[in-house]
Amino acid sequence: MRAAVFHAPQDIRISTVPDPRLIEPTDAIVRITHACICGSDLWFYRGIQKFQPGWRTGHEWMGIVEDVGAEVRTVKKGDRVIAPFAYSDGTCEYCQAGLQTACVHGGGWGGAGDMGGQAEAIRTPYADGTLVAVPESASNDPKLLAALLPLTDVLSTGHHAAVRARVQPGSTVAVIGDGAVGLCGVLAAKRLGAERIIILGHQPARLAIAKQFGATDIVAERGAEAIAHVNDLTNGGAASVMECVGTEDSLDAATQIVRPGAFIGFVGVPHGVKLGLRNIFSKNAWLSGGPAPVRAYIPELMTDVLAGKLDATPVFDLRTNLDGVPDGYAAMDSRQAIKAMIQF
Ligand SMILES: [Zn+2]
Repeated sequence: MRAAVFHAPQDIRISTVPDPRLIEPTDAIVRITHACICGSDLWFYRGIQKFQPGWRTGHEWMGIVEDVGAEVRTVKKGDRVIAPFAYSDGTCEYCQAGLQTACVHGGGWGGAGDMGGQAEAIRTPYADGTLVAVPESASNDPKLLAALLPLTDVLSTGHHAAVRARVQPGSTVAVIGDGAVGLCGVLAAKRLGAERIIILGHQPARLAIAKQFGATDIVAERGAEAIAHVNDLTNGGAASVMECVGTEDSLDAATQIVRPGAFIGFVGVPHGVKLGLRNIFSKNAWLSGGPAPVRAYIPELMTDVLAGKLDATPVFDLRTNLDGVPDGYAAMDSRQAIKAMIQF
């Protein structure tokens, strides 16, 4: 089969690799029909996150089950399935508690081994604890399938930020970041009933999508000006702040625009962030977040996607195939594209 393979920073190639095969009785083999390139893939693409030559890439995918091990019960050959960005056993204390990203047997896609999501097929460990079957009714609807794909990561991650920021009906929310996760955060906050949604970002095309997703206010300034603008709009801070970038500046800004006693939900993967606690301390604010337990969220969110009530597909401003993956990385790296969707 063919798969995307990392060779060096800024150097992803499509190579012929061995077909994945069942190893454990709890495994499934899935033929991938849709995948994505993620903003978090850019950390290794830019050489900031260590990655070895020969490693596979991609953690957002869905497809058709081709084979299952003897112990798999919840999916069968021919089923269309969607996968979270991490696999999990579904049985440990953390999976039981809905925190699959802490699963004692869990892990991420991509890296060493045969489990990259930007590929024609993939081996899935713990298929019952990881995969979610997609109803037959949606299986042949290209629009619905495209709308399901962001559940693998960015839409579920945006939702996680809203959950951890305790977004309530009628509340005022500030979303930091106009990447795919930030934009999906706006959609998630809207879905949870937020009345006022302030987005902090800089790119007009992305901010237009934020408006489309439900943002009521745009803050396009940077640094202290942006912070002052938000605190002015909210008269002293937002009740919920969703941090969707992962840089020191964005996390620090979050502590400066949260209302005293209120909530910051952070989902941007922090890279070398040193965060001062003074603001959080003096405001008695709450800071909570981490990798989204996507497996816990997919059933609930999928219902709304299938009902046509939740559609994040405007973030896919680049649609390509497997051969277009290297150019897709380059387009996202240069911020010409928000997010690439790969169809097989
Ligand atoms: Zn587990």
